[in-house]
Amino acid sequence: MNYMQITAPAKKSIALVAHDNMKPELILWCNKYKAKLAEHTLYATGTTGLHIEKQTALPIQRLISGPLGGDQQIGALITEQKIDIMIFFWDPLEAQPHDPDVKALLRLAAVWNIPVACNRSTADFLIESSLFSQCYDKSVPDYEKYIASRS
Ligand code: PGA
Repeated sequence: MNYMQITAPAKKSIALVAHDNMKPELILWCNKYKAKLAEHTLYATGTTGLHIEKQTALPIQRLISGPLGGDQQIGALITEQKIDIMIFFWDPLEAQPHDPDVKALLRLAAVWNIPVACNRSTADFLIESSLFSQCYDKSVPDYEKYIASRS
């Protein structure tokens, strides 16, 4: 794979997702870091977004609910380089009807070099990093070279 350098902006686009048992954790985290999160653009799957909006008053770009395709929407946004960071509190103790979508989303986040937090400790480390609110140079797959190499 060929890679190219891009710069993630200081104002990040952040995807927020939590499975049902994990939603209280994510709401606590969002409330703790409400001021910092308010400086960025926030996306969330349907139900997660609804709860965050109600319980924190943060503005959220709400996508479809996860089991109905919201995880795949976030995955698509990642491939379009419209998401810079993902906070995804998936439930390690309960199977989900959309487990294939969850796996696909985590895979795309790895492919596109997206910082991902799957629990509160990692989310704390991410948001407390100075890079969270600075421009950040990173490498991503070079699609033009990739497609040219296949023609
Ligand atoms: P939800 O979806 O925010 O609509 O609950 C999250 C998920 O299960 O991926």
